[in-house]
Amino acid sequence: MNLDAKIYVAGHTGLIGSALVRRLQALGYQNLVLKKHTELDLTDQANVRQFFTEEHPRYVFLAAAQVGGILANSAFPAEFIQENLQIAINVIHEAHESGVDRLLFLGSSCVYPKHAPQPIQENALLTGPLEPTNRPYALAKIAAIEMCWAYNRQYGTRFLAGMPANLYGPNDNYDLDASHVVPALIRKMHDAKFSGQTDMVVWGTGQPRREFLHSDDAADACVFLMSLPDEKLLPIVTNDQICPIVNIGCGEDLTIRELAELLAEIVGFNGVLSFDHSKPDGTPQKLLDISRLSELGWKPRISLREGLLSTYREYCQRMALTAFAARNN
Ligand code: GDP
Repeated sequence: MNLDAKIYVAGHTGLIGSALVRRLQALGYQNLVLKKHTELDLTDQANVRQFFTEEHPRYVFLAAAQVGGILANSAFPAEFIQENLQIAINVIHEAHESGVDRLLFLGSSCVYPKHAPQPIQENALLTGPLEPTNRPYALAKIAAIEMCWAYNRQYGTRFLAGMPANLYGPNDNYDLDASHVVPALIRKMHDAKFSGQTDMVVWGTGQPRREFLHSDDAADACVFLMSLPDEKLLPIVTNDQICPIVNIGCGEDLTIRELAELLAEIVGFNGVLSFDHSKPDGTPQKLLDISRLSELGWKPRISLREGLLSTYREYCQRMALTAFAARNN
């Protein structure tokens, strides 16, 4: 990618989208196209078509999605499948119609079967039943992956799909009804610490294992994949037998209990952790096999402890700003 190439980051205000913008800007890319939801509704085909006709980006990072944690997925399955399917259909199709050079679609490790052998290889896709708590979301993501593959085969496009592990980092969603586990535990522990609570509830049994990747590392991997030289990219996107997906992770997982204990240490919460077994555990383990990405030459830089520390610092700054704004209103 030339530094002046026009790059569209769809979903630039979200966790991974905002990390992509930071990474691209840090590398010197100056021609980013960023549209807020109010300016461009990606679920509206006519809107998306007009956008691509007018802007003609050469590269597209498709990070826009309706996302949420385990409870939001269970509460709003219709929105999760409908909006994500529409976004994928509109953006992938119009990107092809307008002749973009490359597109990177952001999927999720939840596309893999609930009981896929661990660590999960890319070829585990569609080999078994999905985890029911996020099946509508996962199916929308799988349809998008299949679209990338189908367009590559039929039209010779260079559409690639990255499957990130559970992401965390700045700009995350801290709304407890919709958030993923890292922001949820940060917020609950922070509140418990400052309100003098002696215990704090963690959902589920604490036994599920998850792999967490800082959004800055994930963004770095996405830019790396988008910038692969043709001789490395083409074998991935022109293969009729192998789906054009690449897992993006750090290669290590831990239990939710271990994550909660680590966060308690970082936040400075000294109370007791209790586990609410009435809440769903979700899939028992999600650890990605990252050999494909490693063989291409990428590796993560941010350790979990370091990443959680900086994320908690950002959360405290955000809280301080909110309190300051409330005092001055
Ligand atoms: P998942 O990876 O799709 O299951 O997404 P989540 O990040 O929502 O949940 C990961 C795991 O953390 C699940 O086993 C949850 O039950 C567990 N968990 C524990 N406490 C919380 C919490 O407060 N919020 C969320 N979202 N998950 C929690």
